[in-house]
Formats: sequence, C-alpha cells, structure tokens
Amino acid sequence: MTNILDVVKSKDPDQKEFHQAVTEVLETVQPVLDRNPEFRQAAILERIVEPERLIMFRVPWMDDQGQVQVNRGFRIEMNSAIGPYKGGLRFHPSVTLSILKFLAFEQVFKNALTTLPMGGGKGGSDFDPKGKSDNEVMRFCQSFMLELFRHIGPNTDIPAGDIGIGAREIGFLFGMYKKLRNEFTGVLTGKALAWGGSLIRPEATGYGCVYFAAEMLSTKYDNFEGKSCLVSGSGNVAQYTVEKINELGGKVVTLSDSTGYIFDEEGIDKDKLDFVMRLKNIRRGRIKEYIEKYSGAVYTEVDTSLDHNPLWDHKADCAFPSATQNEINEKDANNLVNNGVKLVAEGANMPSTPEAIDIFVENKLLYAPGKAANAGGVAVSGLEMAQNSMRISWPKEEVDNRLKIIMKSIHQSCVDASEEYGAPGNYMVGANIAGFVKVVNAMLDQGLV
Ligand code: NDP
Repeated sequence: MTNILDVVKSKDPDQKEFHQAVTEVLETVQPVLDRNPEFRQAAILERIVEPERLIMFRVPWMDDQGQVQVNRGFRIEMNSAIGPYKGGLRFHPSVTLSILKFLAFEQVFKNALTTLPMGGGKGGSDFDPKGKSDNEVMRFCQSFMLELFRHIGPNTDIPAGDIGIGAREIGFLFGMYKKLRNEFTGVLTGKALAWGGSLIRPEATGYGCVYFAAEMLSTKYDNFEGKSCLVSGSGNVAQYTVEKINELGGKVVTLSDSTGYIFDEEGIDKDKLDFVMRLKNIRRGRIKEYIEKYSGAVYTEVDTSLDHNPLWDHKADCAFPSATQNEINEKDANNLVNNGVKLVAEGANMPSTPEAIDIFVENKLLYAPGKAANAGGVAVSGLEMAQNSMRISWPKEEVDNRLKIIMKSIHQSCVDASEEYGAPGNYMVGANIAGFVKVVNAMLDQGLV
C-alpha cells in the first residue's frame, strides 16, 4: 500500500489534496486487502487511483467590457464500474486538478454507498462567479458547455452543481447542451422543477446530513432536541442543514462565508434563515450583512494570521462543517472537543484534515465523514435521473422518504462494515470499506477494462 501511495505522489507530486484523499482511503481498507490477496494481482489499487479519463480544456469568454477572458475547464471521469460517471461541477478560483481529483475519488465511494447505480466523476473551472453579471455567467457557462457537451450524456456522464454552481448556472449549462445536441434529456441534475428537476434536490445534501447525524445520535438513544450546533458556510448545504436542525428541535448559532462568520447566540430561526437565503441566493450578498439586520449577533472577519478558525471555538453539542475542504485543522478539532462537541457530520467534502480526524476518533466523537454524511445530494440526483428516465416526477414526500431510507441504509452499511472489520463506532473506516468493496467487486466482475 505504501508503494501505491509513493507511486501516486511521485506521478503527481503537487496534487496534495488528492494524496490526502487517497491516503485516507488506502489506510483504512488495508484489512480488506489482507483478506483478499487476489486484489493485488488484479492491480485494483493501481487502477482505482487512476482516472478512467481526464479532460482539460480552454474556456474563452467575453466580459461585459468586451474583454476576452480565458479560464481552464476540467472533467475527471474517475470510475464507471457501477454506473455512469456522476458528480458535481465546481466554479471557484481555488479549483485545481488536485482538488477535482480528490473530489472525484471521494465521489466514487460516496456514490457506491447510496445504493444507486452511479459511477464517480467531478469537474469544474477556476472561474469565479462572484461579482460577475448574469450575462457574464451565462457566456461563461455556454463556452464551458461548448466543449463539455461532447464528453457527457444521460447514460455516460451526468454532472451536477457544487460550490459556485446553483440553479442559475445549471440552467445556462443545460440550455447550451440542449441546443448543441438537439435533445431534452436528463444530462444534468439540479435542474429547476419546471424542466426536469426533482423536488427535495436543493434540500437533499443538508437534510441528508442531518438525517445521518440523527441516526448516529439514535445509537446513543439521543436526538436533536435542545442541541446547540455550529454550521460553517452559508450556501446550499449549510442553508438546508440549518432548516432541518431547526425542524428537529436543535439550535444553530453560526454561519460563515469566505470573508467571515456570524455567531448568533439566540439561534438562527426560520425567519433569520429566510433572510440568509434571500441574501445569498438572490442578492448574492455577504454574510456580514446578517448583523445589520440582527443586532444581537456578532460578526468576525477571517484573520489569516490565526492558526485556527474561531467559528469552531464556541460551546456546542454538534458541528456541521459545510463550506470547503480542510476547514477544520488540528487546533480547531481540539477546540471542538474542549468545547463539548460530541458529534461532527461533514456536509462539505473532506473539511477535516487528517490530524483533526485523528482527534475526533481518539476522543470517540460521533464523526461522520463527508462521503457518508453528504451523500444525500447525489442520492437525490440519482432519483432525479430515475424520474427523468421515466418522464415523471414524484411528490415531495416520496423523494424525502426515499432520501431518509437511503441515509439510514448508508448509516447501517457504515456500522456493519466497521464492525465486520474490527473498528466498531468508526464511521470513516465503515464508509471507506463499504464503498470500496462494492466498487472493487464490480471492477473484478467486468474484467480488465
Ligand atoms: P455553495 O457555493 O452553495 O456554498 C459554499 C459556501 O462555502 C459559501 O458560503 C462559500 O462562501 C463558502 N466557501 C467556499 N469556499 C470557501 C473557502 N475556500 N473558504 C471559506 N469559505 C468558503 O456550495 P455548496 O453549499 O453546494 O457546497 C459546500 C460544500 O458541500 C462543498 O465542499 C461541496 O463539495 C459539498 N457538497 C455539496 C453538495 C451539494 O449538493 N451542493 C453535495 C455534497 C457535498 P463564499 O460565498 O464567500 O465563497
């Protein structure tokens, strides 16, 4: 195994996020490899860390001043052993090949956990939609799709949203795909309801994460009633995490964006959340504006000279990192433990560093890794694909019910795998092993392809 990591590192020495994701998975699946020596001869590890296909392209577009701008576009088609490639697109200036490869790798195992037939992929661009006009965003999305359309399709690769891609961007991308292919198919998920979207898709990742956390609490005969929660981010995942926690009787006291965070001791109730949704989704404003409306709250600007994020340094029962990768470091993890946090459920992908995860595990926190806890989003994307194929749309209750069943089943798979492989209570080990075994068996069934 060390060998494989060395090879991965020496092939792409600058891809540190990808190394981090691969290390975490490979370290935890060792017991599976020990039990199945045939995996070695089939070079399963060597194959699983190598994308099946990697597409990189130029995205030229014109800004409102008539100046041509150039960004870089990517699609990583990581693994199609159990279904067509499926995974989001991220538009953010921090996007690199390393970040997308880590996300695509995680997506493979996450999708396997959902019980639905979906392979793993991820894509995006270093384009920053923040501060751009609607017309600029449209021209960028059209140019992006002008290349991407030839690589995707409803039975090949079905992208969705992620950071920086919401309903507006999915609309522009879908419009261009439809024009180029002259067909109306479910090639993207996260579509608006009127043209093929699924009810509960916007809510799915946040709701799913809270359903998973509720399952973890129930193993301790506990629930969300009266629990105080820290949530980071203020985008899609964070918003619906807050909504569901409120519904289950908990209280959320923080939200953030990339410039700072707010702390509201009274709790972010339904009215305050409505304000945040309008602020973020319609006015595209900054979270700082929250304190202009709600004077009891406190705003703290990001201070890059600090060795920790003060958002994670408040007394609370649960934490839901829902912004971005590596947003909880060792110091933050210690602060969470010292402040009484007993549960961490990752709405974001890989928000905790390996050192932070070690601290959660050592202190026996209920710790849910992103590939299990945030799988509700892609699960409902899978349900959107099913509805598109059948040309029907299910009512809200039906989709929400299916989401609950899927999150329950993911929780159970994690528990079963962690127990079978001698790490009871360790959801990270459980999630990695359950996802890995399913994908590897499919790869073996399909021969050397
Ligand atoms: P959004 O773009 O809707 O929101 C992202 C939020 O995180 C914003 O508040 C943003 O602030 C903040 N953020 C982004 N990058 C950084 C950064 N580098 N530092 C600090 N804050 C940052 O994205 P989503 O809510 O969809 O995604 C959040 C996380 O959840 C990501 O890790 C994503 O991969 C993961 N995820 C999302 C799913 C989905 O269905 N949407 C499914 C599964 C996982 P600002 O606006 O200032 O940039």
